[in-house]
Amino acid sequence: MCGIVGAVAQRDIAEILVEGLRRLEYRGYDSAGIAVVDGQSNYQRLRRLGKVNELAQVTKNTSVIGGTGIAHTRWATHGEPSEANSHPHVSGDITIVHNGIIENHVPLRTLLESRGYQFLSQTDSEVIAHLVEWELKSATTLIEAVQKTAAQLEGAYGAVVMNRLDPKRLVVARSGSPIVIGCGVGENFLASDQLALLNVTRRFMFLEEGDIAEITRHEINIYDASGEQVEREITESNVEQDAGDKGKFRHFMQKEVYEQPTAIINTMEGRIRPGEVITESIGVHAVEILKKVEHVQIIACGTSYNAGMTARYWFESLAGVSCDVEIASEFRYRQFVTRPNSLLITISQSGETADTLAALRLAKERGYMGVMTVCNVAGSSMVRESDFAFMTRAGTEIGVASTKAFTTQLTALLMLVTALGKEQKRITQEKEKEIVDALYALPTQIEKALSFDKQIAALAPDFADKEHTLFLGRGEFYPIAVEASLKLKEISYIHAEAYAAGELKHGPLALVDADMPVVVVAPTNDLLEKLKSNIEEVRARGGLLYVFCAPKAGFESDQSMKIITLPHVSDITAPIYYTIPMQLLAYHVALIKGTDVDQPRNLAKAVTVE
Ligand code: GLU
Repeated sequence: MCGIVGAVAQRDIAEILVEGLRRLEYRGYDSAGIAVVDGQSNYQRLRRLGKVNELAQVTKNTSVIGGTGIAHTRWATHGEPSEANSHPHVSGDITIVHNGIIENHVPLRTLLESRGYQFLSQTDSEVIAHLVEWELKSATTLIEAVQKTAAQLEGAYGAVVMNRLDPKRLVVARSGSPIVIGCGVGENFLASDQLALLNVTRRFMFLEEGDIAEITRHEINIYDASGEQVEREITESNVEQDAGDKGKFRHFMQKEVYEQPTAIINTMEGRIRPGEVITESIGVHAVEILKKVEHVQIIACGTSYNAGMTARYWFESLAGVSCDVEIASEFRYRQFVTRPNSLLITISQSGETADTLAALRLAKERGYMGVMTVCNVAGSSMVRESDFAFMTRAGTEIGVASTKAFTTQLTALLMLVTALGKEQKRITQEKEKEIVDALYALPTQIEKALSFDKQIAALAPDFADKEHTLFLGRGEFYPIAVEASLKLKEISYIHAEAYAAGELKHGPLALVDADMPVVVVAPTNDLLEKLKSNIEEVRARGGLLYVFCAPKAGFESDQSMKIITLPHVSDITAPIYYTIPMQLLAYHVALIKGTDVDQPRNLAKAVTVE
């Protein structure tokens, strides 16, 4: 969740470490810290509560000398955000940073206290520092001490260890949290995400599960879970470097909302051509596998789950293949039955979502015919561990509230559904052409939806002083309403619920009054008339309605109902299109409320803990 950066170099490294943290700050941000040692074992550690900027200031004012160092931004899981709980943590000459959760920290703490160690923080992470310190007493090398420590840890971690008395090296362990090694010339780096290091190198090695590596200025030695020395391939990164720049926009989220037409064009490139979806572009064995699929099981969390829920309607209505969608944290812990010839699809922006990754691993042992990932980060764990990956090409997404990742996931899933239906001969050539035409038209239509920005901003004051909101949709617009409510609650902290409109009278109608705005996603489709009855149910109870609809939908604005009429688009791509005004609404409400739009409280990007 948080960010880790480390370096072994000849030059003073503090500034590079802090810059790396800045680039990772969007992942977790309650505190930050750095520890650096020079060739003579002179050591400095600085930690600050708050944003990386606080740490950057103090690092600038204190001259921090040394070529070996580790740094961390924390997203607290154990112990409140405070300076004492921020990383790096220290035990004697050992300094560590940790990403993730050590599940057995309580018994380990008791054990270490009985050995005389004193704990200075409430974190689970501090046990790692003391364990390594203890093991080093009997081990001959730091890596051996870390291997012995890792054998005692349960849970998920990416951890880096530095020994003040041996400043030539860092040791890093990966188990459940991603770690990448950046290869330089006469210097080497490591981080929890390559983004942190793009200003110093573009050559990366991705550690695999259970790997423990030692990096020095000139060497990288990696050992797998069984202790065997292994090679990990070096890959050249093609991630764009300026992703960390907001350009003319006020927030990353706003920038990312506006990037959607391009992100969708990129996601479609090479995957469709006039009249058809190119099945082969999905993966080497895609044609073969898709022909045989009888059932699709989608696993995801959060926004990706909402994308999966939308796709479920498409899988069944367009491709005629049954589809279940489940939240990863539920799926992984329940006794599930694998249906014959089932394809498992995981969806994740980062490809590191802990629960989804665990579900993927579990499913691989449970008889699925194939595992596919819809993901935005090449080289991520899920991409590497799936049989085939369908990459969304949204570009780096920094705003914690996902926007372009969601619409590109939907675009990718719609192409996948079309390919599946086509390979199974359930989608006619005519239907395929209709879908592809709708996809080609989508980026320009989204541009148009974005031009409603001002009109939507004008609605925002009606929401900003409210405590509760309700979002309604039917059919494939129900998950779009769910995603809209998620966006609003994430960034404005207003309680937002979403219901399938048909469920209104089964409970939520009791909540409706003039203090709870009700947003309705109401494009023209077969369910519009039914939706209109639901709208009347709200109106009759004095509710205030905000209806997003197409021309000719037959709604009229009045005192209790504001109508936002968007240009007509194909029914097929309408769920993607109607997402845009919902994102804009959430953004403008958050602006009025003055919340931290890109880094909303209590949340983090890339949820690598369960
Ligand atoms: N569990 C650790 C803590 O609370 C690390 C959290 C993180 O990944 O930032 O300090």
